[in-house]
Amino acid sequence: MQHLVDTDQFSLSQIEQIMEDAKTFKHNRPPLLLRDKVIVTLFFEKSTRTRSSFEIAGKKLGAAMVLFDPSKSSTSKGETLEDTFTTLCAMEPDAVIVRHSENSTPQMLADMQVTPVINAGAGNYAHPTQALLDYFTMLEHFDGDVKGKTIAIVGDVISSRVASSGIRLFSRMGMNVVLVAPSQFMPEIDLPKYEKLDEVLDSVDVVMSLRAQLERHEIPHFENYDAYAKQYCITKERMDNRDILLMHPGPVMRNIDISDEMLDDLRCKVLEQVKNGVFVRMAILKLLLLDS
Ligand code: ASP
Repeated sequence: MQHLVDTDQFSLSQIEQIMEDAKTFKHNRPPLLLRDKVIVTLFFEKSTRTRSSFEIAGKKLGAAMVLFDPSKSSTSKGETLEDTFTTLCAMEPDAVIVRHSENSTPQMLADMQVTPVINAGAGNYAHPTQALLDYFTMLEHFDGDVKGKTIAIVGDVISSRVASSGIRLFSRMGMNVVLVAPSQFMPEIDLPKYEKLDEVLDSVDVVMSLRAQLERHEIPHFENYDAYAKQYCITKERMDNRDILLMHPGPVMRNIDISDEMLDDLRCKVLEQVKNGVFVRMAILKLLLLDS
Protein backbone atom coordinates (compact mmCIF):
# COMPACT_ATOMS: atom_id res chain seq x y z
CA MET A 1 0.00 0.00 0.00
CA GLN A 2 1.55 3.33 -1.01
CA HIS A 3 0.67 6.68 0.54
CA LEU A 4 1.50 10.25 -0.39
CA VAL A 5 2.58 12.20 2.66
CA ASP A 6 5.31 14.10 0.82
CA THR A 7 6.93 13.67 -2.58
CA ASP A 8 10.08 12.03 -1.20
CA GLN A 9 7.99 8.83 -0.99
CA PHE A 10 7.95 8.73 -4.77
CA SER A 11 10.92 7.44 -6.72
CA LEU A 12 12.21 9.54 -9.60
CA SER A 13 10.62 7.13 -12.05
CA GLN A 14 7.25 7.46 -10.28
CA ILE A 15 7.51 11.26 -10.50
CA GLU A 16 8.34 10.90 -14.18
CA GLN A 17 5.34 8.63 -14.64
CA ILE A 18 3.04 11.15 -12.92
CA MET A 19 4.31 13.89 -15.25
CA GLU A 20 3.78 11.68 -18.32
CA ASP A 21 0.30 10.55 -17.25
CA ALA A 22 -0.74 14.11 -16.38
CA LYS A 23 0.36 15.24 -19.85
CA THR A 24 -1.63 12.42 -21.48
CA PHE A 25 -4.72 13.25 -19.39
CA LYS A 26 -4.38 16.91 -20.36
CA HIS A 27 -4.35 16.23 -24.05
CA ASN A 28 -6.69 13.23 -24.43
CA ARG A 29 -10.08 12.40 -23.07
CA PRO A 30 -9.24 10.31 -19.99
CA PRO A 31 -10.45 6.70 -19.72
CA LEU A 32 -12.59 5.76 -16.70
CA LEU A 33 -9.73 3.93 -15.02
CA LEU A 34 -11.14 4.31 -11.48
CA ARG A 35 -14.71 3.34 -12.33
CA ASP A 36 -14.97 0.84 -9.47
CA LYS A 37 -13.21 2.99 -6.84
CA VAL A 38 -14.59 5.02 -3.96
CA ILE A 39 -12.45 7.89 -2.68
CA VAL A 40 -13.17 9.90 0.46
CA THR A 41 -12.06 13.49 1.05
CA LEU A 42 -11.61 14.40 4.70
CA PHE A 43 -10.75 18.09 5.03
CA PHE A 44 -10.30 19.55 8.51
CA GLU A 45 -9.20 22.92 7.09
CA LYS A 46 -10.73 25.25 4.53
CA SER A 47 -10.01 24.60 0.89
CA THR A 48 -11.35 25.86 -2.40
CA ARG A 49 -9.14 24.60 -5.14
CA THR A 50 -7.50 21.50 -3.70
CA ARG A 51 -10.72 19.84 -2.62
CA SER A 52 -12.61 20.58 -5.83
CA SER A 53 -9.55 19.68 -7.88
CA PHE A 54 -9.38 16.24 -6.25
CA GLU A 55 -13.10 15.81 -6.66
CA ILE A 56 -12.97 16.65 -10.36
CA ALA A 57 -9.83 14.53 -10.86
CA GLY A 58 -11.50 11.48 -9.29
CA LYS A 59 -14.73 11.99 -11.22
CA LYS A 60 -12.92 12.42 -14.53
CA LEU A 61 -11.44 8.97 -13.98
CA GLY A 62 -14.83 7.52 -13.05
CA ALA A 63 -14.34 7.19 -9.27
CA ALA A 64 -17.17 7.86 -6.81
CA MET A 65 -16.12 10.75 -4.57
CA VAL A 66 -17.49 10.96 -1.04
CA LEU A 67 -17.00 14.34 0.61
CA PHE A 68 -16.83 13.94 4.36
CA ASP A 69 -17.27 17.22 6.22
CA PRO A 70 -15.79 16.95 9.74
CA SER A 71 -17.59 20.11 10.90
CA LYS A 72 -20.89 18.30 10.36
CA SER A 73 -19.73 14.96 11.76
CA SER A 74 -19.03 13.16 15.01
CA THR A 75 -15.59 14.81 15.18
CA SER A 76 -17.49 17.94 16.20
CA LYS A 77 -19.25 15.79 18.86
CA GLY A 78 -15.92 14.91 20.48
CA GLU A 79 -14.88 11.82 18.50
CA THR A 80 -11.10 11.61 18.05
CA LEU A 81 -9.55 12.05 14.64
CA GLU A 82 -8.27 8.45 14.72
CA ASP A 83 -11.77 7.12 15.52
CA THR A 84 -13.36 9.21 12.75
CA PHE A 85 -10.76 7.87 10.32
CA THR A 86 -11.12 4.25 11.48
CA THR A 87 -14.90 4.48 11.21
CA LEU A 88 -14.62 5.81 7.65
CA CYS A 89 -12.14 3.10 6.75
CA ALA A 90 -14.48 0.38 8.06
CA MET A 91 -16.63 1.28 5.03
CA GLU A 92 -13.68 0.24 2.86
CA PRO A 93 -12.97 3.25 0.67
CA ASP A 94 -10.12 2.82 -1.81
CA ALA A 95 -8.29 5.93 -0.54
CA VAL A 96 -8.70 8.84 1.86
CA ILE A 97 -7.53 12.33 0.94
CA VAL A 98 -6.85 14.34 4.08
CA ARG A 99 -6.15 17.97 4.96
CA HIS A 100 -5.30 18.97 8.52
CA SER A 101 -3.69 21.82 10.45
CA GLU A 102 -1.25 19.42 12.19
CA ASN A 103 1.96 18.59 10.33
CA SER A 104 1.93 14.98 11.51
CA THR A 105 -1.69 13.96 10.77
CA PRO A 106 -1.30 12.41 7.27
CA GLN A 107 1.70 10.33 8.39
CA MET A 108 -0.12 9.22 11.53
CA LEU A 109 -3.14 8.06 9.49
CA ALA A 110 -0.92 6.44 6.86
CA ASP A 111 0.90 4.49 9.60
CA MET A 112 -2.39 2.81 10.50
CA GLN A 113 -2.04 1.02 7.11
CA VAL A 114 -5.76 0.63 6.51
CA THR A 115 -6.15 2.59 3.27
CA PRO A 116 -3.90 4.69 1.02
CA VAL A 117 -3.69 8.19 2.52
CA ILE A 118 -3.09 11.22 0.31
CA ASN A 119 -1.95 14.42 1.99
CA ALA A 120 -3.90 17.40 0.61
CA GLY A 121 -2.05 19.86 2.87
CA ALA A 122 -0.76 19.46 6.42
CA GLY A 123 0.15 22.39 8.69
CA ASN A 124 3.16 24.23 7.36
CA TYR A 125 4.95 20.97 6.57
CA ALA A 126 3.78 19.53 3.28
CA HIS A 127 1.45 19.98 0.33
CA PRO A 128 2.86 17.39 -2.09
CA THR A 129 0.18 17.54 -4.78
CA GLN A 130 0.72 21.32 -5.05
CA ALA A 131 4.49 20.79 -5.42
CA LEU A 132 3.91 18.21 -8.18
CA LEU A 133 1.48 20.41 -10.09
CA ASP A 134 3.88 23.35 -9.81
CA TYR A 135 6.68 21.15 -11.10
CA PHE A 136 4.44 20.03 -14.00
CA THR A 137 3.60 23.66 -14.82
CA MET A 138 7.30 24.57 -14.93
CA LEU A 139 8.22 21.51 -17.01
CA GLU A 140 5.50 22.40 -19.49
CA HIS A 141 6.72 25.98 -19.73
CA PHE A 142 10.41 25.09 -20.10
CA ASP A 143 9.87 22.33 -22.68
CA GLY A 144 10.43 19.44 -20.28
CA ASP A 145 13.69 20.58 -18.67
CA VAL A 146 13.96 22.64 -15.51
CA LYS A 147 17.39 21.44 -14.33
CA GLY A 148 19.56 24.45 -13.49
CA LYS A 149 16.63 26.89 -13.56
CA THR A 150 16.28 29.20 -10.58
CA ILE A 151 13.05 29.75 -8.70
CA ALA A 152 12.56 32.52 -6.13
CA ILE A 153 9.94 31.69 -3.50
CA VAL A 154 8.62 34.98 -2.20
CA GLY A 155 6.64 35.86 0.91
CA ASP A 156 5.51 33.94 3.98
CA VAL A 157 7.89 31.03 3.43
CA ILE A 158 8.03 30.01 7.09
CA SER A 159 4.29 29.29 7.35
CA SER A 160 3.86 27.78 3.92
CA ARG A 161 3.47 24.05 3.30
CA VAL A 162 3.55 24.88 -0.42
CA ALA A 163 7.03 26.33 0.06
CA SER A 164 8.26 23.39 2.21
CA SER A 165 7.12 20.73 -0.25
CA GLY A 166 8.23 22.83 -3.21
CA ILE A 167 11.74 23.41 -1.80
CA ARG A 168 12.24 19.66 -1.28
CA LEU A 169 10.90 18.63 -4.70
CA PHE A 170 12.42 21.39 -6.84
CA SER A 171 15.89 20.95 -5.27
CA ARG A 172 15.68 17.20 -5.82
CA MET A 173 14.79 17.78 -9.48
CA GLY A 174 17.91 19.90 -9.97
CA MET A 175 16.51 23.41 -9.66
CA ASN A 176 18.13 26.23 -7.67
CA VAL A 177 15.82 27.62 -5.01
CA VAL A 178 16.26 31.07 -3.45
CA LEU A 179 14.04 32.60 -0.79
CA VAL A 180 12.87 36.19 -0.63
CA ALA A 181 11.10 37.36 2.51
CA PRO A 182 11.17 39.81 5.40
CA SER A 183 12.94 38.34 8.44
CA GLN A 184 9.61 37.47 10.15
CA PHE A 185 8.72 35.18 7.23
CA MET A 186 12.15 33.62 6.62
CA PRO A 187 12.76 30.05 7.86
CA GLU A 188 16.08 28.73 9.22
CA ILE A 189 17.13 26.79 6.17
CA ASP A 190 20.30 26.40 4.20
CA LEU A 191 19.32 28.19 0.98
CA PRO A 192 20.26 31.59 -0.47
CA LYS A 193 18.12 34.19 1.31
CA TYR A 194 17.27 37.74 0.27
CA GLU A 195 15.26 40.44 1.92
CA LYS A 196 14.67 42.44 -1.26
CA LEU A 197 12.87 41.14 -4.30
CA ASP A 198 14.67 43.57 -6.59
CA GLU A 199 17.99 41.88 -5.74
CA VAL A 200 16.99 38.60 -7.40
CA LEU A 201 14.78 39.49 -10.35
CA ASP A 202 17.66 39.67 -12.82
CA SER A 203 18.81 36.15 -12.02
CA VAL A 204 15.67 34.02 -11.70
CA ASP A 205 13.56 32.07 -14.20
CA VAL A 206 10.51 31.64 -11.98
CA VAL A 207 8.92 33.65 -9.18
CA MET A 208 6.53 31.83 -6.86
CA SER A 209 4.60 34.32 -4.77
CA LEU A 210 2.96 33.12 -1.53
CA ARG A 211 0.03 34.38 0.52
CA ALA A 212 0.72 35.61 4.05
CA GLN A 213 -0.80 32.76 6.10
CA LEU A 214 -2.61 35.00 8.59
CA GLU A 215 -4.46 32.01 10.08
CA ARG A 216 -1.14 30.44 11.13
CA HIS A 217 0.31 33.55 12.80
CA GLU A 218 -0.13 33.45 16.55
CA ILE A 219 0.57 37.18 16.69
CA PRO A 220 0.13 39.48 13.67
CA HIS A 221 3.48 40.10 11.94
CA PHE A 222 2.41 43.31 10.21
CA GLU A 223 -0.08 45.93 11.29
CA ASN A 224 -1.19 46.34 7.75
CA TYR A 225 0.02 44.75 4.58
CA ASP A 226 0.59 47.97 2.58
CA ALA A 227 4.19 48.26 3.75
CA TYR A 228 4.73 44.56 2.99
CA ALA A 229 3.15 44.95 -0.47
CA LYS A 230 5.48 47.86 -1.28
CA GLN A 231 8.42 45.47 -0.97
CA TYR A 232 7.00 42.14 -2.08
CA CYS A 233 3.98 42.62 -4.35
CA ILE A 234 4.74 41.39 -7.86
CA THR A 235 3.90 44.40 -10.00
CA LYS A 236 4.43 45.22 -13.64
CA GLU A 237 6.97 47.93 -12.75
CA ARG A 238 8.99 45.36 -10.81
CA MET A 239 8.79 42.60 -13.42
CA ASP A 240 9.39 45.05 -16.28
CA ASN A 241 9.80 43.05 -19.49
CA ARG A 242 11.79 40.24 -17.86
CA ASP A 243 11.07 36.75 -19.13
CA ILE A 244 10.01 35.29 -15.76
CA LEU A 245 7.32 32.70 -15.14
CA LEU A 246 5.04 33.89 -12.34
CA MET A 247 3.24 31.36 -10.13
CA HIS A 248 1.12 31.42 -6.96
CA PRO A 249 -0.65 28.48 -5.27
CA GLY A 250 -3.74 30.57 -4.50
CA PRO A 251 -5.71 32.02 -2.94
CA VAL A 252 -4.07 35.26 -4.12
CA MET A 253 -4.37 38.41 -2.04
CA ARG A 254 -4.72 40.86 -4.91
CA ASN A 255 -2.37 43.85 -4.84
CA ILE A 256 -0.56 42.43 -1.81
CA ASP A 257 0.91 39.26 -3.35
CA ILE A 258 0.43 40.09 -7.05
CA SER A 259 -1.00 43.23 -8.67
CA ASP A 260 -4.23 43.16 -10.70
CA GLU A 261 -2.22 44.01 -13.78
CA MET A 262 0.28 41.16 -13.33
CA LEU A 263 -2.54 38.67 -12.69
CA ASP A 264 -3.70 39.44 -16.24
CA ASP A 265 -0.20 39.29 -17.70
CA LEU A 266 0.68 36.34 -19.95
CA ARG A 267 3.66 35.50 -17.73
CA CYS A 268 1.30 34.75 -14.85
CA LYS A 269 0.34 31.05 -14.74
CA VAL A 270 -2.01 31.00 -11.74
CA LEU A 271 -4.98 29.61 -13.68
CA GLU A 272 -2.77 27.24 -15.63
CA GLN A 273 -1.58 25.86 -12.27
CA VAL A 274 -5.21 25.30 -11.23
CA LYS A 275 -5.94 23.58 -14.54
CA ASN A 276 -2.82 21.40 -14.32
CA GLY A 277 -3.72 20.49 -10.74
CA VAL A 278 -6.60 18.35 -11.96
CA PHE A 279 -4.44 16.37 -14.42
CA VAL A 280 -1.61 15.90 -11.94
CA ARG A 281 -4.04 14.72 -9.24
CA MET A 282 -5.58 12.30 -11.75
CA ALA A 283 -2.10 10.90 -12.39
CA ILE A 284 -1.44 10.62 -8.63
CA LEU A 285 -4.74 8.78 -8.05
CA LYS A 286 -3.91 6.42 -10.90
CA LEU A 287 -0.46 5.72 -9.48
CA LEU A 288 -1.66 5.09 -5.93
CA LEU A 289 -4.87 3.20 -6.68
CA LEU A 290 -3.93 1.21 -9.76
CA ASP A 291 -0.18 1.05 -10.29
CA SER A 292 1.17 0.55 -6.74
N1 ASP B 1 -3.78 26.77 -0.93
C1 ASP B 1 -2.47 26.68 -0.34
C2 ASP B 1 -2.48 25.83 0.91
O1 ASP B 1 -3.42 25.14 1.18
C3 ASP B 1 -1.84 28.01 -0.14
C4 ASP B 1 -2.56 28.98 0.76
O2 ASP B 1 -3.54 28.63 1.42
O3 ASP B 1 -2.10 30.12 0.79
O4 ASP B 1 -1.50 25.85 1.63
